[in-house]
Amino acid sequence: MPMALSVYAPSHRLGQRMPVLVPVLLLCTVLLGALYQPLLYVLPLQILQFVLPCALGAVVGALSAGVISRAPCRSPPFAWGLIVVAALVAWVASWASTLALDLREAYPDASWDLLLSSLTPDFVSEWISARNAAGWVDSKGKTTQGVFVTIVWVVEPIVMMGTAVFAGREAARRLFCEPCHRWLDTRSLSAHGLNATDVKPLIDAGDLRSLVELSSDELMGTNFRISVSRHRCTTCNQSTYLSIEEVRVMNTRYGPQDRRKSLLRNVVLPAALDRRFDERLAELEGAPSRAA
Ligand SMILES: [Zn+2]
Repeated sequence: MPMALSVYAPSHRLGQRMPVLVPVLLLCTVLLGALYQPLLYVLPLQILQFVLPCALGAVVGALSAGVISRAPCRSPPFAWGLIVVAALVAWVASWASTLALDLREAYPDASWDLLLSSLTPDFVSEWISARNAAGWVDSKGKTTQGVFVTIVWVVEPIVMMGTAVFAGREAARRLFCEPCHRWLDTRSLSAHGLNATDVKPLIDAGDLRSLVELSSDELMGTNFRISVSRHRCTTCNQSTYLSIEEVRVMNTRYGPQDRRKSLLRNVVLPAALDRRFDERLAELEGAPSRAA
């Protein structure tokens, strides 16, 4: 990061609606977590061992993103923490609800007070060992037990948290205009055929003008590009920032996927360059060639 450039500084405010939204979010994640394990055991398809934690993580991430956006939360550490905690709460709730259901089934006549008082650490660890030994039977009739169950149990919360963070990442990274009390909008230009090495000298020199003026090198192909993003408050047009990413299109078994690497993030963009960025957007939209 060049010394001369100043960057976006979040206000670290949690947002006035946060005290209301956090309990709502945690309540939703507890309910989702409570539904999760019964669903996993009712539908004994092996693929669900991976799909269901991903789905739960994605839903928790999307809900957290909604809370971050509506609060509005301008503290990135809090936002990231909220997503991770929400996923963790869903995971703990999935275990707690399963334990509660097992207890109820084993002792149908006992009161909840009695059941809760019997929950010693020894009891819980025995219950976990018994579940581990029992394992599950998949749709092909194959039984999974012991160490493989442990592996799935370890991978499960990691997958949940990873998917939640992935699903909520845009909300945690957004920029905010404090005077107008609104999120900034982002628009991007692409310079196809350029990579990180091409723009490194410009970034090191803090040459924002050249970065805004980057144009595609058509001969170099289209499987990599430099994405130049401008974040701006559309109300006051005052808070304006620039981010640079290298994007590589990778062929994966799910089709072509963008791999993004941040090269410069949220540096303050002077008004003259902001206007130039608008002109470039207009030029590219007017041109018949690729504008995205
Ligand atoms: Zn503004």
